[in-house]
Amino acid sequence: MPVQRKKAVVEKDHCVACGCCVKVCPLGAIQIDRGRWAVVSERCVGCGRCANACPASVISVEVQP
Ligand code: SF4
Ligand code: SF4
Repeated sequence: MPVQRKKAVVEKDHCVACGCCVKVCPLGAIQIDRGRWAVVSERCVGCGRCANACPASVISVEVQP
């Protein structure tokens, strides 16, 4: 059975680009795209720290297919 990969997913329309998620990610896997919303890179391991830190609760950790 393949190993399940988890990744943070941002509901970008509701992201307020505060940067709290960027500060807590240990891998530098989440960045603010042009001051608009947070974008998650392939480095993300789905640890969930950004989701816990997001004041707008717009990040969820999802299992990737
Ligand atoms: S889930 Fe973890 S590794 Fe992925 S972006 Fe959030 S803090 Fe970084
Ligand atoms: S912490 Fe939440 S609201 Fe703030 S930039 Fe990250 S995803 Fe957007």
